[in-house]
Amino acid sequence: MGVDDQWCPGPTTALLGLLGNPVAHSGSPAMHNAAFRAVGRDACYLAFHVDERDVAAAINGLQAIGVAGLNVTVPHKEQALSLADRVTPRAEAAGAANVLAFKDGIIVADNTDGAGFLRALTAAGVEVDGRAVLLIGAGGAARAVAAACAAAGATQLVVANRSPARAEALLSQVPLAGAVGVACPLTAVGHWLPKAQLVIQATSLGLKPGDPVPWSDWAGARPGTTVVDLLYKAGGTPFMHRVRDRGLTVLDGRGMLVWQAALAWDLWFGQLGPAAVMAAALDRWLDRKGD
Ligand code: NDP
Repeated sequence: MGVDDQWCPGPTTALLGLLGNPVAHSGSPAMHNAAFRAVGRDACYLAFHVDERDVAAAINGLQAIGVAGLNVTVPHKEQALSLADRVTPRAEAAGAANVLAFKDGIIVADNTDGAGFLRALTAAGVEVDGRAVLLIGAGGAARAVAAACAAAGATQLVVANRSPARAEALLSQVPLAGAVGVACPLTAVGHWLPKAQLVIQATSLGLKPGDPVPWSDWAGARPGTTVVDLLYKAGGTPFMHRVRDRGLTVLDGRGMLVWQAALAWDLWFGQLGPAAVMAAALDRWLDRKGD
């Protein structure tokens, strides 16, 4: 795949972008623009910092000027879903949209976070089918991942969260597809750890310097358990370092981010994005940023 060094935006260039608050940390512009140049697509991707009260105006305005599609990130994913004319089943299950496409005058909402998570696991050789999953966190990302794991054949879905009521709410909203769901407080992670084959860290802890880790005692984990932190930082997160010290396999959230982006292309362009190009661009972006 060659890189188009001569590209510059013109009157027919397609515009895509990210809406969120904040967006300054996002690797999405780096990934998508590198991918556009690699496949010779005349398109450009920008990040837009949008306040909660302006989300509807921003989406309607961008639709009016002919933007091809958008990603949506924290904290606007639920609002984006509510503004859509058509919602895919996986966005419905996740209760949130991370991708919008403007097609024939209507807004289509999708959610590629859960499918992106599963693709990243597959790429790393990790199975979900038949596995007991322990999910730490019950926010938007956790809900998308929970729905995807249940649909992919997880036998058990334990959701441990600071507020157990939110874990219970998640389990009542997600189609469990045969998985046994259990809601519990964070303090119960040690009880469920020996039974888990896949552990997913889906809290927002670790975003800010000095954040504590949501769980640090891995002595009870069974050998062969895979642990995934949805966060990512160059050099790994503090959570990941603790897990690695116990000799467990640990993945970070880069794979999920790359694959949710590659899958978003399917909705926008009817073709999967070049994941390898996106992954390399994300690594370069994180190295430049230094975290
Ligand atoms: P939400 O704000 O929806 O949820 C936050 C979660 O973190 C809740 O479970 C919350 O618990 C928990 N939490 C927050 N503060 C604390 C604390 N002090 N102690 C214990 N638990 C806490 O966030 P998202 O679900 O959207 O995102 C979660 C993480 O996933 C973020 O780090 C985000 O960057 C990452 N992510 C990664 C993606 C990727 O592609 N790799 C995609 C999407 C998200 P409570 O309910 O009790 O408040």
